[in-house]
This record gives sequence, C-alpha cells and structure tokens, in this order.
Amino acid sequence: MRIPLLAGNWKMYKTVGEAEELVRALLEGVGTPTDREVLVCPPFTALYAAGRLLEGTPIALGGQDMYHEPQGAFTGAVSPLMLRDVGCTYVIIGHSERRQYFGDTDEMVNRKLHAALAHGLRPIMCVGESKPQRDAGQAEDIVVAQVRAGLKDVTATQMQQVVIAYEPIWAIGTGDTATPQDAQAMHATIRRVVSEHYGEETAQSLRIQYGGSVKPDNVDDLMAQPDLDGALVGGASLKAESFLRIVQFRS
Ligand code: PEP
Repeated sequence: MRIPLLAGNWKMYKTVGEAEELVRALLEGVGTPTDREVLVCPPFTALYAAGRLLEGTPIALGGQDMYHEPQGAFTGAVSPLMLRDVGCTYVIIGHSERRQYFGDTDEMVNRKLHAALAHGLRPIMCVGESKPQRDAGQAEDIVVAQVRAGLKDVTATQMQQVVIAYEPIWAIGTGDTATPQDAQAMHATIRRVVSEHYGEETAQSLRIQYGGSVKPDNVDDLMAQPDLDGALVGGASLKAESFLRIVQFRS
C-alpha cells in the first residue's frame, strides 16, 4: 500500500516569524495521522526554525531545491548536507519554477537526485508539460522524457526513496487544475514507464503526487484516483486552514 504524501511548497513566502506561526498552527491541527504523511518545505532561511519546532512531530521537513555538491565555492547554493543538518528528510527537485527561472535542466535534475539519495534525502522529482506542449498533443512525450532523464542511473533500491510529482505547468498557481481523469491518465503513464524500467513491484510502490492548484474543494476528487498518491501544494499550503483540509482529504 502506498501512503499518500501531502506536501506544502511554501516557495518564496514566509519570514522566520511567519513560518513559525504557520508551523505551530499546523501542529495544532494535524493530529497524529497514520494513513498519510505530511511535509512542509519552507524557504531556506526558515528551515532551521521550522525544523526545531517540527522535531519529533508527525510533520516532516523538506528543502525546495539544493545544489548537487556537498560543499564548496558555490556562492548562493545550499547543499544536501546542509539540508540534512537542519532536519530535512525530503527535497523538491526540478520544480518547474526552477526549470523556468533558474535554468535547471534534466541533467541537473538527475545530478541533484543522485546527490540527494547519496546523502539520505528523499527526492521529490517534479515533471510536467507546458500549455503549448499539451495543446500540441506532446504532454505524454514530454513527461516521459523528463522521467527517464531524471531517473538516469537510479537503481531499483534507490527508487524506494524517490517520489515523483506530476505538475502540469499550466496548472501551477493558476487555479486551473487538471481534471482527475487527465491527472490519472498521466500518473498511470508515469507508473508504466517506471514499471518498464524497474519492474512492476517498484512501480507499484512508487508514490506519484499531483501538483497544480490543489485546493480544499478539489482535493477529494483528485485523491480518489487510483494512481494519485498525494499532492504537492503551493498557494493553498500557505494558510493552515486550507492546508490542513487538504491533508485531511477524504476519498
Ligand atoms: C507548486 O508550487 O508546486 C504548486 C503546485 O503550486 P500551486 O498549488 O499554487 O498551483
């Protein structure tokens, strides 16, 4: 059985004080879920403070990105060791905003993925097509290519630590969600590609999150789909009330 992972990507929002306030509110409302996993990914500057509050609680901590080297003269970069040091167990890799604004390529995504695994972080690898690509009927080809390139040289054993997030770019921050049926179709495709490469057992245990304008009012329908194993949530994760409702999805 796959345990759904509900993750909040706070992007470039929340000062340290605001992050602490949100973490406290989430801890108050989250309870002790056993059938789902909860994760928050604050900005780098708030990770340490959030991590201190989250230690020993049911909410895990993750980074939004990282560089692939453990240390060195890489001004402005944050390493997997540093993420581990402040309590992270997950890291988002290849978010479409990283690909779009910071030039992250499939090759960089693959390097970061290997570095995360080497340092004991669970990577959440984001893939997804743009609107013109979907309109041109290329969505599946684009996503399959991203999955294959991102997972290059990852072993079946390592795959047990990997999460994939399908995030159609046109649905991120737009209020425009993929229909549960369209999301399901892409998730099934991703699982098939993983199965072809790693075998059915690995594919069946892989968690594939959906991301793109997940909100309290659409989460139940999305999570009812058999291949959707949680959500990567941006905007709606910035308020405790909406994120907690998403965490408490009913399917
Ligand atoms: C995201 O940041 O990964 C995301 C899906 O954002 P939103 O939920 O705001 O669309």
